[in-house]
Amino acid sequence: MEKSSDLVRRVLHSLHESSADSPGVTRDAYGAGETAAHAIVRAEAVSLGAEVSVDAAGNLFMTLPGTDRSLPGFMTGSHLDSVPHGGNFDGAAGVIAGLAAMVALRESCMIPPQDFTVVAFRAEEAAWFPISYPGSMAALGKLDPDLLNVPRSDTGRSLAAHMAEAGFDVDAVRHGVAHIRPDMVAAFVEVHIEQGPVLVGRNIPVGLVTTINGGFRHMNATVTGEWAHSGATPFSYRQDAALAFAELVVGLNQWWESQEVVGIPLTITFGKVWTDPNMHAGSRVAGEVQFSVDVRAGSSAVLAAAADQLSAAATSISSARGVKIAFGSRFEWSVEEMDSRLLDRMEQLAANICLPVLRMPSGAGHDAAAMAAAGIPAGMIFVRNTNGSHNPDEAMDAEDLDRAVALLALLASTPLAALLDRSR
Ligand SMILES: [Zn+2]
Repeated sequence: MEKSSDLVRRVLHSLHESSADSPGVTRDAYGAGETAAHAIVRAEAVSLGAEVSVDAAGNLFMTLPGTDRSLPGFMTGSHLDSVPHGGNFDGAAGVIAGLAAMVALRESCMIPPQDFTVVAFRAEEAAWFPISYPGSMAALGKLDPDLLNVPRSDTGRSLAAHMAEAGFDVDAVRHGVAHIRPDMVAAFVEVHIEQGPVLVGRNIPVGLVTTINGGFRHMNATVTGEWAHSGATPFSYRQDAALAFAELVVGLNQWWESQEVVGIPLTITFGKVWTDPNMHAGSRVAGEVQFSVDVRAGSSAVLAAAADQLSAAATSISSARGVKIAFGSRFEWSVEEMDSRLLDRMEQLAANICLPVLRMPSGAGHDAAAMAAAGIPAGMIFVRNTNGSHNPDEAMDAEDLDRAVALLALLASTPLAALLDRSR
C-alpha cells in the first residue's frame, strides 16, 4: 500500500501538472482549474475507499466511516482554488493532508471512533469572487442569496452563472439547503500553509491557530479636493487631495505604530491608490484621490478603535485642508475564536510525537472561520512555508506537511464528541 508521505508528494505533483500557468498555478473558482483539482482529489478518495458526495454548491465530501456512525464526525479540509498565478500549496495542502491522514490511519490499522470526513470547499479565494467563503457558507446553507449576483473578477459573470455552468444547483444554494449540519460535526480542523513569515522565522514546523482575525475594508473611498494649476495656485488656495490623502496614511500609520509598541497586533493597508487618468497631470493639483483601506485585527474592540481613528482623522484633515473624505461602502467580517479544548488537545498530541508547535493568530481569513461562526468547534494547523502565499514562490517543505498529517491522524483517532461535549 502507498505510504501517506508518498500520496502527499504524488497528489501535489498532479495538482501542479493540471493547473500549471506560468508563473505558478491558476485554479479558478468554479472554472476549469478548480474543477480539474476536484476531479483529481475525488479519484484519490474513491481509490482509498472513501464515501464521496458533492453538495449543491459543488463542495466535495470524502468520508472514512468511523466505528460509531451515529456520533458527530470529525471534519478536516480546505479549498482547492488558487489565486491567478498563485502557488500550489495554498488551500490544496489542507485537502491533501486530509487524504494522507486517511492513509496514515490505515497504516496504523486504526478505525477512527467517529466518521472522518475530508472536505474540498469551493471558491475560497476572494481574487475570484470578492466575498467571504461562498463555498463553505453554501455548504452550511448560510450563503446570502444576494451574493450569488457577485461577478467573478475576470469574466464579469455572476457566481450563480459560474456555479450553474459547472453543473451545480443554484436554486438549492439560494434556498439555503445545507449539506453540513453543525450538530453532525464534532469538530472541524483546517490544515493550511502559513501565509506569513512567523514559523520560518522561529524555525517551528507547525502552528496552532488561536484566533482568525476579523476586519473591515472600504474599496471605494475618496478624497475630494479641487483640480488646479500646479504653478498658478499658491499654498493657501489649494484643496490638494493628494496631500490630504498622504496625511491620512501617515496619521493612521502613526496610530498603528502606537498600538504595535504596546503589543496590540493589527494591520492597516491602503492597497489601491489612484487619481483619474483622464483628469490627472504632472502639472495639476490632484482634485480627487480614490483609495482602498483594509484593517484587520484579532479583537473587535481594536477594529472599532481603528474605525474611530479613521473617521477622526478624516474629520480633522477635511477641515484643515478644505477637502471631503468619504469612505464609501464597508465590507466586514468578524473575529472567530478557535476552540480552546481542541487547541489544548492538539498541543498535547503534538508533544506526544515530539512535534514543536507555536500558538499563533491567523491574519488571513479561512473556511474554518465560517465553520466556527456556525457553532462548530474549530481549529487550524498552520504549516511552515517560505515566501508567503498568493504568489508562485510559495515554498512548503513536504516533510512539514507530513508532520501536520501525523497530528491530524492522531486527532482523527481521538473520541471528539466526548472531548468537546458534542453528544447528539
Ligand atoms: Zn487558502
